[in-house]
Amino acid sequence: MTDDVIPKTRRPGDPPPQLEDYALARERFSWTAARASLEGFPDGTINIAHEAVDRHALGPRANHLALRWLGRDGTVRDFTYRELSEASNRFANVLDELGVPPGDTVFVLAGRIPELYIAVLGALKRGCVVSPLFSAFGPEPIRTRMTIGAGRVLVTTTSLYRKKIAPIRQDLPALKHVLIVHDEPDNELPLHTMELRTLMGWSPTTFDVRHTRPEEPALLHFTSGTTGRPKGAVHVHGAVVAHAITGRLALDLHEDDVFWCTADPGWVTGTSYGIVSPLVNGATMIVDEADFDAARWYDILRDQNVSVWYTAPTAVRMMMKGGAAAAAQHSYPKLRFIASVGEPLNPQAVRWGIEAFGLPIHDNWWQTETGGIMIANFAALPIRPGSMGLPLPGIEAAIVRRLDDGSVAAVDTPDQEGELALKRGWPSMFRGYLGEDERYRKCFSGDWYLTGDLARCDADGYFWFVGRADDVIKSSGHLIGPFEVESAFMDHPAVAEAGVIGKPDPVAGEIVKAFVALKPGFDATPALERELLAFVRRKLGPAVAPKEIAFAPSLPKTRSGKIMRRLLKARELGLPEGDTSTMEGDAPAANGVAHAAASPHVGSAPTDPESAAR
Ligand code: ATP
Ligand code: MG
Repeated sequence: MTDDVIPKTRRPGDPPPQLEDYALARERFSWTAARASLEGFPDGTINIAHEAVDRHALGPRANHLALRWLGRDGTVRDFTYRELSEASNRFANVLDELGVPPGDTVFVLAGRIPELYIAVLGALKRGCVVSPLFSAFGPEPIRTRMTIGAGRVLVTTTSLYRKKIAPIRQDLPALKHVLIVHDEPDNELPLHTMELRTLMGWSPTTFDVRHTRPEEPALLHFTSGTTGRPKGAVHVHGAVVAHAITGRLALDLHEDDVFWCTADPGWVTGTSYGIVSPLVNGATMIVDEADFDAARWYDILRDQNVSVWYTAPTAVRMMMKGGAAAAAQHSYPKLRFIASVGEPLNPQAVRWGIEAFGLPIHDNWWQTETGGIMIANFAALPIRPGSMGLPLPGIEAAIVRRLDDGSVAAVDTPDQEGELALKRGWPSMFRGYLGEDERYRKCFSGDWYLTGDLARCDADGYFWFVGRADDVIKSSGHLIGPFEVESAFMDHPAVAEAGVIGKPDPVAGEIVKAFVALKPGFDATPALERELLAFVRRKLGPAVAPKEIAFAPSLPKTRSGKIMRRLLKARELGLPEGDTSTMEGDAPAANGVAHAAASPHVGSAPTDPESAAR
């Protein structure tokens, strides 16, 4: 907790915030009213793709720019709502022609190319369940996910097919149709595949969108695998109500916004907010094919007049490494709102936004399972740096304690730690972990969904992330959240990133051990180690400060850019590493940041900025 607050000022010319009075917005909110702001069909059905695209394509926004695609090589392709509607209709017709029935699962394994977006929307129109896979996955994680999802159709590229699908195709008996974006014109199309562009060229541009029931499955998203084996969370068409309203309230999306979500659609952020939410809200969305590159990102923010930018802590940390001056070289007159998700956003990062862009960064919290933003720092409210913010209207969040009989008790005392729980009933809540009913059931106690994250709630209702339940450290009777300790390290000028674990200790139970990656120009000397230990001890006090530090060139992360503390711990203790299918590669790629378009989130030597793209 802190008294530190960043007040809100509105710049002349900014549109009025979508949520101006938090208390009033909560009081007046109802999911029924939120649903009424969308169109739906007269029979009570609703289809995500109709709301995202066709509703606009059939109205006055038909010629508004829906998607601007920035190719790696400098190519730009623009799609109006009408064009996106027609292209996705063609894709839906291809599925129809192939006899793929509604309910079957369509996987998409592709970089951020236009066909990915068209295929996702077209498959939703057909009533198929779509699962976008992160294109940097190797054959094994792909095989596991496509087996769990019983993928009937796969959309991919020739190059990805050769490397990743051909070796496992015989293990995928459910896979009937492989639709290829042929990106190797000098080579023949692989055997037993079909050229997507040709099929789409033959298909009509009109399609009768399936009137899906609100509870009909629409999206299958796998979790990041930060704490263990990834789970396949199922979301339904009715979720679009939450995608729409959370984009408006938490990201302050307005119709005329140019919105850039840097997450890759292989992760949930890249679908809920990298496809559905901006389109449903009638905005223009930017998609960058390339992986993370700080200079490129600054250029995109400026040249594309991005007004709302949704990114991830890893990306922010990577940009911070280059210094605020790199950002401040440009001006960003159109940029109005910056938000981040995926990991805790250190207070330093919130403030760095002001230095770099003249705007603080707004942290928000949610999970693959929640389908949409649940807790947020809103455009109109002061920010408490380090806090995830306040629950969205329509969302009831609480801090609870699990009891032995399986029930939960509310922790009503402010600032007490406990598990973050959400009252069920919001439309984008997952409806199951595919093939893992028991694991799903265990997430609930009565009306409460238990998130597995520990947090505390202050007297004003702001939620503060403590750590994942699995990562919390118990030392000499204290419960220590890694986030607090890591943030203390981040205040030191030498530190690029820090990951903190509990190491078993016969006396204390556990001691706090920190793994630290340094910024370029700093050497891992014993003197610096002593200096860092003293620095953090001064900030946190001896009970919470780490007893040991190890320097590392970078920290292990998921491809979505999250620090894998369980791996730091397993390695420290010489234990098996468990499921590492979502771990980013060792080879330093030049990008890869993003729950955003680039991909995951990152650190130190540019590891995998792809992650930052989620
Ligand atoms: P797995 O469930 O497979 O271990 P994961 O939980 O990392 O993976 P996601 O659903 O992508 O998979 O991530 C959600 C989690 O990310 C949250 O439960 C939380 O631990 C963390 N997270 C997301 N946003 C924030 C935030 N703003 N502050 C702190 N933690 C966050
Ligand atoms: Mg999780």
